[in-house]
Amino acid sequence: MAAIAMPKSSQETLAKREKIVADLQKIVPGEGVICNEIEMRPYETDALTAYRQLPLVVVLPESVDQVSRVLKYCYDNDVKVVPRGAGTSLSGGALPLEDGVLLSMMKFNRILEIDFENRAVVTQPGVTNLGITKAVEYEGFYYAPDPSSQIACSIGGNIAENSGGVHSLKYGLTTNNLLGLEIVLITGEVIRLGGKHLDCEGYDLLALLTGSEGLLAVVTEVTVRVLQKPETARAALIGFPTSEQAGKCVADIIAAGIIPGGMELMDKLAISAAEDFVNAGYPLDVDALMIVELDGPEAEVDDLLQRVSTIAEQNGSSYLRVSQSEEERNTFWAGRKAAFPAVGRISPDYLCMDGTIPRAALPQVLQDMQELSKKHGLRVANVFHAGDGNLHPLILYDANKPGELAAAEAFGADILRLCVRVGGVLTGEHGVGIEKRDLMPEMFTEDDLKQQQRIKCAFDEKQLLNPGKVFPVLHRCAELGIMHVHQGQLPFPDIPRF
Ligand SMILES: Cc1cc2nc3c(=O)[nH]c(=O)nc-3n(C[C@H](O)[C@H](O)[C@H](O)COP(=O)(O)OP(=O)(O)OC[C@H]3O[C@@H](n4cnc5c(N)ncnc54)[C@H](O)[C@@H]3O)c2cc1C
Repeated sequence: MAAIAMPKSSQETLAKREKIVADLQKIVPGEGVICNEIEMRPYETDALTAYRQLPLVVVLPESVDQVSRVLKYCYDNDVKVVPRGAGTSLSGGALPLEDGVLLSMMKFNRILEIDFENRAVVTQPGVTNLGITKAVEYEGFYYAPDPSSQIACSIGGNIAENSGGVHSLKYGLTTNNLLGLEIVLITGEVIRLGGKHLDCEGYDLLALLTGSEGLLAVVTEVTVRVLQKPETARAALIGFPTSEQAGKCVADIIAAGIIPGGMELMDKLAISAAEDFVNAGYPLDVDALMIVELDGPEAEVDDLLQRVSTIAEQNGSSYLRVSQSEEERNTFWAGRKAAFPAVGRISPDYLCMDGTIPRAALPQVLQDMQELSKKHGLRVANVFHAGDGNLHPLILYDANKPGELAAAEAFGADILRLCVRVGGVLTGEHGVGIEKRDLMPEMFTEDDLKQQQRIKCAFDEKQLLNPGKVFPVLHRCAELGIMHVHQGQLPFPDIPRF
């Protein structure tokens, strides 16, 4: 197991564990509080499995009132809280704290309203991403952001991570499809943001909450936009002799003014792992495979497919197959969507990186990544949302071999530094969590980070919500100029005020 510096555990909280559990059982009675070690084990990690920690206690509230009372209790008693959805975070966002309540939102699993007229769905946060599409598909609608984990991940987690998927190139990330939220602050206050209407006055707090990784508030209700399925959607598999040619083709397609519904790339290792796992019909004699989907009216799709295949030929493509049925299109995507578990079959462990780069830098970055692979002595399988420039290099390692996890992490950090160096960012959709926390200074200045923490302080001045995630250094809010006066008492009385 790997070690990462987390906020110092509060000995006072640990000593009061029994009382805290008893108090929480009064707020969430029945089976809503889990406190024995064996039953808490499933919560000790998320999809960043290199890190594990049992929480102080797991609480599964069923109503907004219970969430509000649990949070207020934690606020009054200085107890930390880690919100959790389905636990599929790849950046360790839902990793528990020894002295923190793990607040699972998975009992919030009902869709509350389907409003086709306003193209909106109101849902509880524990509903899965795919569950929303399933609820509206009988009328030809769907929810556009489609992370590969959509069968399992919760919409609350999607909001906290601003998740995307293969269709985000054309239809946007979670933030572009979110209309409204109900959130509960650490103080227990319940706040509503947005609604079914398109925009509202004042600060865009909806956008602020999206991607806030459980650091600002707990999401208890979500309103999202749903879309009507396009008249036609066809996907093409296009193979290339080299990844650099494929990368150049991606940049050329976008430069030609074409925005495909999805445009993904996989390298040789990822192609063969996915093909072995899913039998999607992928060619095995190419070095890079592009899956590109065009959607819209039939005549437009035919025209765009023609233009895309011409651009591919100009870039030296060696394979082209266009889906002839909806079933075949879904099979093309099935391989891509199963790429992570497929890679899990060829290596005992893998780390999934998530850097984003300007599209034009793709060929260079792919080349540099091969050099880094040699330097660190580890294989890398590349799967990425190529249209968005969002890379998902999967670094293959064996945690049982001494030093391999450390080497994989060093390799991953080098990849992310490379992304920043070419004008990109540390994360496209998986969040910072603990995984990229200590790399934040590569991207932001100390002043940038302080200003971001001032926003955190405005929501959670005691820093009880998911501390230890996102920010490499935790400043006390008083140091940042945010002072909280509680019953006439200032916190940190020793710090001079100006
Ligand atoms: C195989 C696999 C494939 C994946 N593919 C993609 C992909 O294509 N695109 C993509 O974007 N991601 C992908 N992911 C990552 C992951 O599924 C997403 O980040 C997802 O949004 C996490 O949702 P969750 O419900 O599992 O949240 P969790 O893992 O439980 O939590 C994630 C974060 O959200 C916070 N949180 C959860 N619920 C709430 C709430 N109600 N209120 C406030 N904060 C909350 C947590 O504190 C934590 O910081 C993939 C993961 C796996 C394992």
